[in-house]
Amino acid sequence: MIPRAGQYETCVMLVNLQRAVPDVCEQDVAEDQSTWPMGHPMCPHHIRRMEDWAHRRHVDLTEQAREQRIEVLVREREERDAARVVYFARRADGHIKIGFTGSVSDRMGALRREHGPLELLATIPGGPDVERAHHETFHAERLGSSEWFLPSERLLAYIERLADGDQELAS
Ligand SMILES: [Zn+2]
Repeated sequence: MIPRAGQYETCVMLVNLQRAVPDVCEQDVAEDQSTWPMGHPMCPHHIRRMEDWAHRRHVDLTEQAREQRIEVLVREREERDAARVVYFARRADGHIKIGFTGSVSDRMGALRREHGPLELLATIPGGPDVERAHHETFHAERLGSSEWFLPSERLLAYIERLADGDQELAS
């Protein structure tokens, strides 16, 4: 973060962390920006808190800033992974595709351009590992080495259970 003068008027520290959505401190920031720990706009109270914390742990706040950047990168990757789903989509001929994607809407659009009308039956969280596990589970239904599967009773029953689960989560 490289704040510019006047960009922030209130402290960016989070308070009431036990709440689902913590509050932002919102006290006026210290006027001298050179005192903001790691360049984060903070109120005098939180600057003291941060300095005490760093002093107790013998933390160099500059080194801490580097570690925070790494944490952000790791968190971004985790969020990307968390957004991935394995989807079950049915083509007009009844065949069902089991694949994974980071964007269901983009993927459905691309598949519809290639395969025509497509019904999204269910999604579950997961990436390539979860996809592979399902491809193996429904190996008997699999059409060659494609990601398309015959709509057997056990596959449809499985998807139905997943779809019920989706609705329970959504309600
Ligand atoms: Zn504050």
